[in-house]
Amino acid sequence: MMNRIEDEDDHVPKDHPRYQSLKYRHKIIEGMKNLIVAEAGLIAHGRGECFDYILGEQSNDIARNAMKAAVALMLISEKPVISVNGNTAVLVPEELVELSNELSAPLEINLFYRKEGRVEAITSVLKKAGAKQILGTDESKMVEIQELSSNRRIVDPEGIKIADVVFVPLEDGDRTEALKKLGRKVIAVDLNPISRTAIWADITIVDNIIRVLPEMIKIAKKLKGMNKTELKKIVDEFNNQKNIKDTLDLIKHYIETQKEVAFNILNK
Ligand code: ATP
Ligand code: MG
Repeated sequence: MMNRIEDEDDHVPKDHPRYQSLKYRHKIIEGMKNLIVAEAGLIAHGRGECFDYILGEQSNDIARNAMKAAVALMLISEKPVISVNGNTAVLVPEELVELSNELSAPLEINLFYRKEGRVEAITSVLKKAGAKQILGTDESKMVEIQELSSNRRIVDPEGIKIADVVFVPLEDGDRTEALKKLGRKVIAVDLNPISRTAIWADITIVDNIIRVLPEMIKIAKKLKGMNKTELKKIVDEFNNQKNIKDTLDLIKHYIETQKEVAFNILNK
C-alpha cells in the first residue's frame, strides 16, 4: 500500500506554488500519527510557515551569514550538542545525522512534551537515518537542571548538562532563556525573528530548518579546513543584534514589494 505522504503528494502537482509547503505539512501530520511529533508541534509548524511566508520562503544572505557563524562557533567549542525535538526529527532526520557527524556534535533528544513512546519513536527515526550515538534516550541516566522549566529540564549528563554550546532548532523561549542563564551559548533556528528564543540566542538563524541544515552541512565541509584563529574571527565578527535588525528590515522590504505585486493585480 502506498504510504499516505506519497498518496497525498500525488494530488499536488510538483509545480504547484505550495508544493514544498504541503509536502512538509504532510510529513508533520504523519509524524504526529506516528507519535514523533507532539500535537502542539503542528501549531508550532503553522506559526513557522507564517513567518516563512513573509520571508519569501527562501534563504537569504543574512541567514546564511548567521549559519556560518554558527558552524564556526560549533567547530571551536569544546562540547557542542545538537538538541532534537519531534518536528526536527520528522523534517530533517538525515541532515541532523550528517551535521552531527561533520561537527562532531552529538544529537540529544530533548522534548517539551514527553509522551510515552515518543523518545523511542524519535530514536528509531534517527537510527534509520544513520545515527550511531543518540543522547537523551536512557531515562535512568537523565539528570535535572533546576533552572529549566518544563520537561526539558531533564537532560543527558553527557550532553546538554555539560555542553558549552547548544544548537536548538525550534526552541521555546523559556528554555532558551534558562540555557543562557546557565551559561550555555545558544544557537537557535527560528523563523520568527522576534520570538523570545530569537532575542535570547547568541546566534539566531532566521530561516526554515528544512533549508538550514543542508546549508550548514555545506558550510561545515568548507570551514572544517580552517584553523581556530580564522574560525574565532568569524564568530567575533558576527553581531546578533545587527542580524535581527537586518532580518526585520528584509521582511519589511519583502512585504512592501508584495504589497505592490498584490495591488497591481487588485487594480487590474
Ligand atoms: P518563544 O517561546 O520563543 O517566544 P513561541 O512561543 O512563539 O516562541 P514556540 O511554539 O515556543 O513559539 O516555538 C516554535 C518556534 O519555532 C516558532 O517561533 C516558529 O516560528 C518556529 N518554527 C516552526 N517551524 C519552524 C521551521 N520549520 N523552521 C524554523 N523555525 C520554525
Ligand atoms: Mg514558546
